[in-house]
Order: sequence, then C-alpha cells, then structure tokens
Amino acid sequence: MNRAQQLYDIKKDLAGKRCVVVGMAATGMAATEFLIKQGATVIVSEQKTERELRLGPSLKRLRALGAEVELGKHSARTFLGGDLIVLSPGVDPRIPPLEQAREKGIPIVSEVELASWFLTAPLIAITGTNGKSTTTSLIGHILSAWGKKVFVGGNIGTPLTAYLLQQEETGYIVAEISSFQLEAISSFRPWIALLLNLGEDHLTRHPTLASYAAAKARIFFNQGPQDWAIINADDAAVKALIPHIRAQVVPFSRERNRQQGVWLEDRDTVVYKNGEKAERFALARVKIKGMHNRENIMAAVATATICGVPRAVIQESLESFAGLEHRLELVGEWNGVRVYNDSKATNVASAVTALLALEGPIILLAGGRDKGGAYAPLRRVIEERVKILILMGEAQSRMQEALQGPIPIHPVAGMKEGVQLAWRLANPGDTILLSPACSSFDMFENFEERGRVFKNLVLNFAKEEG
Ligand code: ADP
Repeated sequence: MNRAQQLYDIKKDLAGKRCVVVGMAATGMAATEFLIKQGATVIVSEQKTERELRLGPSLKRLRALGAEVELGKHSARTFLGGDLIVLSPGVDPRIPPLEQAREKGIPIVSEVELASWFLTAPLIAITGTNGKSTTTSLIGHILSAWGKKVFVGGNIGTPLTAYLLQQEETGYIVAEISSFQLEAISSFRPWIALLLNLGEDHLTRHPTLASYAAAKARIFFNQGPQDWAIINADDAAVKALIPHIRAQVVPFSRERNRQQGVWLEDRDTVVYKNGEKAERFALARVKIKGMHNRENIMAAVATATICGVPRAVIQESLESFAGLEHRLELVGEWNGVRVYNDSKATNVASAVTALLALEGPIILLAGGRDKGGAYAPLRRVIEERVKILILMGEAQSRMQEALQGPIPIHPVAGMKEGVQLAWRLANPGDTILLSPACSSFDMFENFEERGRVFKNLVLNFAKEEG
C-alpha cells in the first residue's frame, strides 16, 4: 500500500488505529482527546519530564481519557509502533525517531492536518513571519460584526482539534498557522490562504530562507482555482511564489496605481479592486498604528471582501478594532503623555517597527534576555525618534555598548525602576514605550506577564498622581 492510500484509509476511519501524539501542551492535549473520541488509541510522547512540565492535572486528564503517556523522551520504539503520528506545533519534524518512522512509511501529520479532515465550515488560514495574530483577530472581528458565527484559533488560542471537540456549527474558521505545522500537511486546503510576509526570524529552525519559504508556501499547495491566495506583493520572497499558486491570487501592496488587488492609495486610504469594481476604505480613524498594521488591514480587507462582507461593515469594523494586548497597546494618556505596551516585541525588528509607528519624542524602555543578535539596526531609528533610552535586564550592557551615541542611556535595575524613571522624565507630548527587542525570560514567565507588570506599574503611578 502506498503512503497516500495508507493516509486515505486512516482518514476514513481512525477507530482502532494506534496514534502517537508528539508533544503534550494544549494542542497535544486537544489532539489526544479528539483522537480518542474517534475511537483511536493514543500514546502521547513528551520530551520534558513531569517536573519540567508542571502539568500534573493534564497528565491526570490524559490518563483518565485512557491515553498512555511517555515522558522525558521520544523513543523510536513508541514512534515505530504507531499507525499515525500527529505533531504538536513546536515539534521539529526532523528529530531522529520521526526520521525512522518516516523511513518505515508511517504517516506523520501536523495537528492542523488532522483537524482539516473533519472541518466543514470554510477555512481561512493565515501565515507569515509577522502580523499573523493581528490579522487573524481582525478578520474574526470583521466577520463577527457581519453577524457570522466565527471560530478564531489555531496557533492563537484554541487549537483546531479543540474546536472540533466543541462540535459547534460555525460560519467560518479563521486559523493562524505556523510554518512548523505547514511542514507536515498533506491535504490541508484553505478556501482563503494568506501569506503576509517572509522574514528571517526562524532561521535557527530552517537552514535557509528558501526552505523556510518552501514550508510557508505549502499553505497554497492543495488549493485549486475556486480558492483564494492573498499575498504581500511588496515582499520579493512571497511574490516569487505566485507562478506556483493555482488559487486566484489577490496581491496587496503599499504602492498605489496597481491594476488589481488591494493597495494604499495614500497613507489613509485602502483600495480593493477586483475586475472593474473598486471599493475604498478610509483609515484615518483606525486605532491600530503603523505601516505594518496597514498591511495587516489590507490583507483583512481582501479576505472580508471575498467573503462578501458589505463595505460599510468592513469600514466600521476597521475603526472599532482595538488591536491585541501587548502589541503597540495604548495603556492610556496622562498629562499629555501617551504610554504604549509593546511587550510582544521580543526581537530587534519588532522594536524598530514600533518606533517607526509612533510619534515622538519617545522614551523607550528596552532590554530583557539577550538573543545574541545585533542591536545596531535600532541605532538609526533611536537617534531619529527616541529622546531617552532606558535599559534593563540581561541584555543591558550589550545594548548599551551597541547603542552608545547622542541619545542619553539610563541603565536601571528592573521594570519598576524603569517605569518610575520614564514617568519622572516625561513631558507633555512625549510617548513612553515598552518595546524590549529582547525576550522576557530573564525576569518574567513570558511576554504577557512582562506586559501586564508594565501596565500595572503605569496605572499605579497614574493613580498616585491622580
Ligand atoms: P505574529 O502573530 O505573527 O507574531 P503579531 O500580530 O502578534 O504577529 O505581531 C507581532 C509583532 O510583529 C508586532 O508587534 C509588530 O512589531 C510586528 N508586525 C505585525 N504585523 C506586521 C507586518 N505586517 N509586517 C511586519 N511586522 C509586523
């Protein structure tokens, strides 16, 4: 039996199949429960030990469901005993036991592939290096405002198999998909697929930009002429994929005077043109800031228009969308000083994006865990827009060295001292921005906790002054 036939048989009937679920975080848990509901038997294989995982309750739950659990290793024996292997998003498909299973011809699929076998509502899938979560949420927001029941999830929030377990009817499924998941698909076929951009962020995992692009391009792989591909025409690596796409392509671009697709007429107007008909959308009252968000908006406008959402609903939804927490989130304005939380900016490129999006003069709080990359790309934009630079965390001294120049730098002991200093130095008209350019793990559990701590400190200072 060839591999396609084998996979087809498994798809038709999971009952009695031996499935190996790799990874035991939220997605692995949902996939396991889903498979067991289909009558499969499941072994969950997790590299971390019970202590590292701190997942006592999940472990209990898995065992109560009847799943076997292998902790602290991925053993070849477990993998080779399966009829099907299902990967959680963070699992590298090239780890040795998977290579062995592949050699033996055992089908290996990502959790989104598994879920896609059972999805009935139209699927809108979003991928790219940056902007996935924002665009996914914005599309969900527009479709909901139109009155549709929408599931928004995938890489953000609820996994697709967890959605299937809820068994709720929805009009649309809007899913953020990572390149890791796209590597292990075989028949996953979105009705609308979006590729926002291809940066070099994941090069540790993908040896070259070309292989990273190839993984992302798989989102279009199973599409046909009735499907849609929305792509960033300003990104050369994305544009190069067009000849290989069978779906109808809708390009979006910052450049005006295009013939078809979506583009920015001027900074504040988006035009969508398909055939003869053109629709215009005003952006002057949109809350999410910056040119990068203009791109996310263009991608969402294209998607919503294809779905048939009326122009007025799209326009209103663009204006009512408040953006996501920790991404250039406006915390508030006090005495003419605006404060933004951009804790999600865990790399230099994101911090640059934030600085370009805001009006100055900016008091920038940055630093955290050093990822070993260069801070030099921040130099110019800091000199142009930042008035005072406050540095914290493990990266402090490397950043100080790289960014030494005309802008005053204040090293501080931690977030509290940083916020206190920024608050004291800010004048009316200034902007205080937390955009760390580093990960949070030196002082916080994750970027969400860092952002919340920042916001609480700001709100407390504001109250004290009250
Ligand atoms: P993702 O889910 O892909 O990580 P988010 O929507 O959470 O993306 O945005 C994360 C960060 O990426 C933002 O804070 C911003 O700095 C940057 N970003 C967002 N959208 C874009 C875009 N279209 N192009 C480039 N950078 C972007």
